[in-house]
Amino acid sequence: MVKLTRRQMVRRAAGLLFTLTPISSALAKAAPSAQFIAARIWPAHAYTRVTLESSHGLSYQHFSLDNPRRLVVDIQGANINSVLQSLSKKVLADDPFIRSIRVGQNTATTVRLVIDLKQSVYSQVFTLTPVSSFKHRLVIDLYPQGVDVNDPMMALLNGTLNPEPSKKRPAEPAQPSYTVAENRTNRRPIIMLDPGHGGEDPGAISQNGIREKDIVLSIAREAKKRLEAMGYAVYMTRNEDIFIPLGVRVAKARSRRADVFVSIHADSFTSPTARGTGVYILNPNGASSAAAKFLAQTQNNADAIGGVRTSGNPNVDNVILDMTQTATMRDSRKLGQYVLTELGKLNQLHKGRVDEANFAVLRAPDIPSILVETAFLSNPVEESLLASAAFRQQCAQSISQGIQKYLKTAVLQR
Ligand SMILES: [Zn+2]
Repeated sequence: MVKLTRRQMVRRAAGLLFTLTPISSALAKAAPSAQFIAARIWPAHAYTRVTLESSHGLSYQHFSLDNPRRLVVDIQGANINSVLQSLSKKVLADDPFIRSIRVGQNTATTVRLVIDLKQSVYSQVFTLTPVSSFKHRLVIDLYPQGVDVNDPMMALLNGTLNPEPSKKRPAEPAQPSYTVAENRTNRRPIIMLDPGHGGEDPGAISQNGIREKDIVLSIAREAKKRLEAMGYAVYMTRNEDIFIPLGVRVAKARSRRADVFVSIHADSFTSPTARGTGVYILNPNGASSAAAKFLAQTQNNADAIGGVRTSGNPNVDNVILDMTQTATMRDSRKLGQYVLTELGKLNQLHKGRVDEANFAVLRAPDIPSILVETAFLSNPVEESLLASAAFRQQCAQSISQGIQKYLKTAVLQR
């Protein structure tokens, strides 16, 4: 077995991701008369995303230049229009990465975007095919240089690190998890809260237009306040209206060495009668029921909207995962039970027990993780509950108390 350092593995994973960038498929789908219909910029602390929406698939090439630092994106088979010209005006003065954007018709059939940068960035450029209300999109993500967006363990889990059958790639050695011992660590437990959806992905939307992404952010912020008052170190995968890929959410929890990961959502179903609070843990063998399957699908669809390439690679070495996940699953279930019991004092439960589903966001092999479906936005009674600040605060209180009860009994790692 070849020994690779963590850095080397990251580099390999990153290289693979670049070769996976679907340039060839973008070329194949290119149409000569692409019309730009929308141009958006989402600036945020974590990264800035530029999205160009088009009537047809776009083919593109991109490269970076120094002195001054800039990223150039050439879009073939396209003509400049007013939508594209409006992009320059959408750059905010305090955007952490973009100084300005210039757009021009470079040749008769090529549009050139020049993004002047304030700092050196790690960029990912990719296309997305139409999904829900979105048409073809060209996405340019700018991350701060040095951010570990390609955690090799996560790449393995997500199947993006494609192991060649002949030369098996070594996985990062699993942490010797739960090696006896009392919880005598003096450090504060670390909690990662994960408000679902965000940015271009609104999550569920109620009859009255209440968006899941806003509701769950508000609950997570309230929970953070309470948990910090209890003495814990608390982080959030997002604390603003921004799209964060599912894999990055888990990677953030792992890089913070979180002891607990809690993803917060609001449910929705085709039938408005479905209601009740639910708590899910990962079922690595897939969804345990039809409803759970439906849920897993809708939650994982977020990546189709926001753009993460998952290959669903069947060659992932399940043995490695099994070892570490067994202990983590046991603790996830404990954590889920505590949180469900607290939430059960507040609202009726969808089922009386912790349920299992194949949510990508729960896949950290070494962090007890749960996904809380606070209530159903598709149910009129629960929609009005979620719309009330008082209920959201109670929800946050119940989640916090459940986490606290779990942590008092937990054996912390590391
Ligand atoms: Zn959700």
